[in-house]
Amino acid sequence: MLIKGGTVVDPASGVDGLFDVLVRDGRVAAVEGPGVLDRVEVSETFDATGMTVAPGFVDVHVHLREPGQTYKETIATGTAAAAAGGFTTVVAMPNTVPVNDSTASLAWMLDPERGAKVHLYAMPAVTLGSMGEHLTDFESLARAGAVGFTDDGKPVLEDHVMQAALLCAGRLGLPISQHAEDTRLTGGCSMNAGTVAFKLGLRGMTVEAESRIVERDIRLVREIAKVDGVRAHLHVQHVSTAKALEAIRRAKEDGLHVTCEAAPHHFTLTDEAVGDFDTHAKMNPPLRAENDRQAVIAGLLDGTVDCIATDHAPHAAHEKEVEFERAPNGITGLETALGLALKVLGREHGMPVRRVLELMSQNPAAIVNLAGRGTLGVGAVADVVVFDAGREWTFDGSKALSKSRNTPFDEVAMIGRVVGTICAGRVVYRG
Ligand SMILES: [Zn+2]
Repeated sequence: MLIKGGTVVDPASGVDGLFDVLVRDGRVAAVEGPGVLDRVEVSETFDATGMTVAPGFVDVHVHLREPGQTYKETIATGTAAAAAGGFTTVVAMPNTVPVNDSTASLAWMLDPERGAKVHLYAMPAVTLGSMGEHLTDFESLARAGAVGFTDDGKPVLEDHVMQAALLCAGRLGLPISQHAEDTRLTGGCSMNAGTVAFKLGLRGMTVEAESRIVERDIRLVREIAKVDGVRAHLHVQHVSTAKALEAIRRAKEDGLHVTCEAAPHHFTLTDEAVGDFDTHAKMNPPLRAENDRQAVIAGLLDGTVDCIATDHAPHAAHEKEVEFERAPNGITGLETALGLALKVLGREHGMPVRRVLELMSQNPAAIVNLAGRGTLGVGAVADVVVFDAGREWTFDGSKALSKSRNTPFDEVAMIGRVVGTICAGRVVYRG
């Protein structure tokens, strides 16, 4: 295949300009200036004139709900939504039913029979059943393809369990991905602590519930380096507060292997979006106050935040159509990530497209150690997204490819639209 006429932006190889991309046997075979590849015989040409051509996006945090809750999403529908959003690799979280905590469940999930439309990886649970007590068998799981471990949805709360997890995963060169929430402080809370919660009469989650766990985890990473000589990798999921970001910034300055992700909703919305108990604005961590939103944006701009992850969390309509406190947390996100990133970070805060791509492809691929991904360098897997970077459009939730429609971004204006997604050299989405 020849992807022709586009502006190739590949931060990893420093390419930014008009180039054609030749794909052969699922890999990038050549990236050359306009016309150079015209005489090469190809089975298919993808016209990318006027478009941006970039490495396919990598999402290190998605919920695909299979096994167990296929009425919300399946691996096939979730990965179709991923392809529509420009993602060519997704990492499935383990809070399925049952929890993905064994090599058997991991193998079942990754089996081609599940019908994944893009590359699928998984992070199995840190602890059996994500109960926070006994570590899963990291070594066997790593051999079976785990790209990290997480009890996402819940934190690993106990110090000694998190210490053992970081040490064990660190020895295998894999991250522990932490849902940083001190649940001893958030029981019965359904949104951010602040004036909106006060007005609505809801109990709020404080910013300390997040930062305390982040600070504790960083302390453990530091101790493990000192005592055991192991460079443990802590990845902080969906960071949402200025306070946690400050701790992460300091840890990075000290050279610790600490990375973090931010979700589009946390840089786009504040707790004001809860409005009159809108359950489509209910997620965990919750939408925060404006100063925290600005801190997330600043972190994305200055490199404290390593990547954008959607935390795509589908729920059926009937589950969200209940009173606020009883509704489940989470929103869908795969199909709106680029449009929100280019609108909020790009247009409103002047982030260059190159940096958006670092956040969506190069850096997330590095966090889960996917060599040869997140780049269009010659020899890389031909995972490509073609998008119209300047196109203004309105997201129509009813046309989403995800099985669920729980989004606060229905009928919201976006900038930047995916027109084609190519996974290992095959077109998996055409807009
Ligand atoms: Zn989480």
